[in-house]
Amino acid sequence: MHQNHCFRTLTQHPHGYVGYCEGCLTYNIAYNNILLIFNGDDYQYFLEMLHERSNLVSFPTSHGKELLMRSPVLNLSIILSETELEELIEMMEEVSLIVEAQRILNTHPQ
Ligand SMILES: [Zn+2]
Repeated sequence: MHQNHCFRTLTQHPHGYVGYCEGCLTYNIAYNNILLIFNGDDYQYFLEMLHERSNLVSFPTSHGKELLMRSPVLNLSIILSETELEELIEMMEEVSLIVEAQRILNTHPQ
C-alpha cells in the first residue's frame, strides 16, 4: 500500500461522501459506517447492481433495515433500509457521469 494518497471529494452528503484518490486510482464511497473502494468499472457495476437490487435479499426484522447485502467476508453483511438504499444510489448517481468520463479517458488514452 503506498502512502501518497491524493484524495479529492466529488460529493458530500450528511451521511457520506464519494471521493477519488489520484494515487490509488480508486473511488471511495463512504456511507454511514460503510466504506466501499472501487475502480471505475466496479463503481458503475455496483451502482447498476443497486438499481437492479440483484445483490440484495429481503431481511425482515422489526428494525427497519430490511435489505441485506452479503460481503465477501463470511459473517459480515451490510444492511440498509429502503431510505438508505435510495440515499446511497442518489449519492453515487451524482458523480457517475464523472466516473464514466474518467473511465472512457482511461480506456482510450490520448
Ligand atoms: Zn490512495
